[in-house]
Amino acid sequence: MSITLDQVTKRYQGSPVVNDVSLDVAEGEFFVLLGPSGSGKSTLLRAIAGLTGVDHGRITLHGHDVTHVSARQRGVGLVFQNYALFKHMTVGDNIEFALRVRRTKAADRRARRKELLRLVALEGMDDRLPTQLSGGQQQRVAVARALAHKPQVLLLDEPFGALDAKIREELRRTIRQVQRELNITTVLVTHDQEEAFAMADRIGVMNLGRLLEAGRPAELYATPATRFVATFLGAANLLLARQTAQGIRFGATPVNVRAVEKFDGAREHEVVAVLRPEEVELAPTRDNLRTNYIAHGAVEELVFTGAMERMRVRLNNGAAGAQIATASEAASGTALLEVTRTQHEQRGFPVTLGQSVAIGVRRIHVLPTPLSSYTSCGSDASAAEQLAQHAFLSELASRMKTRIATRVEPALATMTSDIATTPISGVAVVGASANAAAQIRWLLRNGAGEVLVLPADSTPPQRVLIHWADDESRRPTLAVAASLLRHVPAEAVYIGIMPEGVSDMQRPAGVRTLLDARSEAQAVHGLEMRTELRFGVAADELRRQLQDASDQMLILGVSSLDQLSGDFSSLLVPPPGCSLMVVYRPTDTPAGELRTAP
Ligand code: ADP
Ligand code: MG
Repeated sequence: MSITLDQVTKRYQGSPVVNDVSLDVAEGEFFVLLGPSGSGKSTLLRAIAGLTGVDHGRITLHGHDVTHVSARQRGVGLVFQNYALFKHMTVGDNIEFALRVRRTKAADRRARRKELLRLVALEGMDDRLPTQLSGGQQQRVAVARALAHKPQVLLLDEPFGALDAKIREELRRTIRQVQRELNITTVLVTHDQEEAFAMADRIGVMNLGRLLEAGRPAELYATPATRFVATFLGAANLLLARQTAQGIRFGATPVNVRAVEKFDGAREHEVVAVLRPEEVELAPTRDNLRTNYIAHGAVEELVFTGAMERMRVRLNNGAAGAQIATASEAASGTALLEVTRTQHEQRGFPVTLGQSVAIGVRRIHVLPTPLSSYTSCGSDASAAEQLAQHAFLSELASRMKTRIATRVEPALATMTSDIATTPISGVAVVGASANAAAQIRWLLRNGAGEVLVLPADSTPPQRVLIHWADDESRRPTLAVAASLLRHVPAEAVYIGIMPEGVSDMQRPAGVRTLLDARSEAQAVHGLEMRTELRFGVAADELRRQLQDASDQMLILGVSSLDQLSGDFSSLLVPPPGCSLMVVYRPTDTPAGELRTAP
């Protein structure tokens, strides 16, 4: 490996701006770090370069641990957006600067300069001053200067930022050619998805300090694992669907499973499906569709963009139609589907504003996330609605581009053993109260897979503690934790707990459990987390940790409701400022069956 990052964390004012990032970049690879502004890309790049120290983790370049090595000695070349060239120096002197500092002989400097100017297509410009060059040419000089001392790694931070579109494209091509010719391992930072697609061998997408996913551009686009990557890499409709043993359903409408992805459906549950605008087919009637029908709709917005036609289609959520919740619905209370069509498709079926259309899908992709939507639960309407306004919950739902439904369940107050009439979808949310423990059990008995408990004053956590009661709960708990942590800029710590007084012989087994948990989190769920081993009674240890500081959250996994009645019941009302997510996957329920009250 050329660059290896192992759980790199950088904090400013206590908050992680680079959060547990692990990554391998191969020899000669062109890797693009992509993410919105403020996601930590530049900080991570500066950490690789040695311009900023890290608070945690290790950086290895070509097999050497350089975590504590100075920038000068790391053998990296750097180009920034506004990497001002030395204004009073000629192009030639700028390029030779790094070589002069390293006391390279004049003849060698000259030869290297000539070679580099050829590489960046600026032959003969040696004697110009930077002010006599265009912006694009100045950045070429900056690239040549960064390469002069033959670094083994080239790091570029938004190098095209200040340039106009055409120059940018030329410079992209040059940089890619230079990179291929030298076969130099390169990391480029950008917030521009198109640029990432145009240049990258592999893209790593960052958000809120975390590296969410890394992969080849086409793979990431077609089969993202996360909502953020799905929507950041291009337009995407996020739809709530139900995964059943027979296939995927939008409301009452089954989607032919052969045309979509297979799933290992066990229990029926809500899922998030990604539908790209170009995978939508429109036709005058359902019978005219060549693809899987999902709903009817009306054309509400129509924009001609040259090659493509872009439109928004309002979905009919009638009795026969599909109940589709889209990201835009979550934001605006309406269900609008984004659609793009080629010229060819437009000619086949021209549409006008207001027209009713049948909608089919060529391909949908179901995200593996276990957190699909939120249902704010209360014993009366005002309680449920008030909770739906909770600041942390609103922030979570908006980051996840999903909806918060409300649900009134009088049984939550009376605690009679009533069974809910319809199963609960998504994450059930309740306020923290003396009743919380009983409410959590009631909701979990009635179909909820997760319950989020929010004290009125709880804020987005800075630290998320993860613990599971038994091995069966490990996998679902990690999946929920990974999904949640993609949307919360918090540090994740798995707390493993062994009984007090275990013998020295048994301790290695505890440490092994931690390591296994960490690698499973990383390999299966794309989550980087720390681990801590504690000794004592699990519930006491966890409570102690939560009382340590506010702004914490506990994710607690169980596989049986009995586990919530014993020691853990004291954890079900979180301390002030903290919140709790209970993850419940019963082991004793046959697949496909809904749980009922005992
Ligand atoms: P990006 O390059 O993805 O836009 P940065 O790495 O520049 O993001 O910044 C990530 C976050 O860290 C931002 O919220 C930024 O304000 C913060 N940050 C960056 N550098 C510093 C610093 N020296 N001191 C305090 N906060 C910083
Ligand atoms: Mg930046």
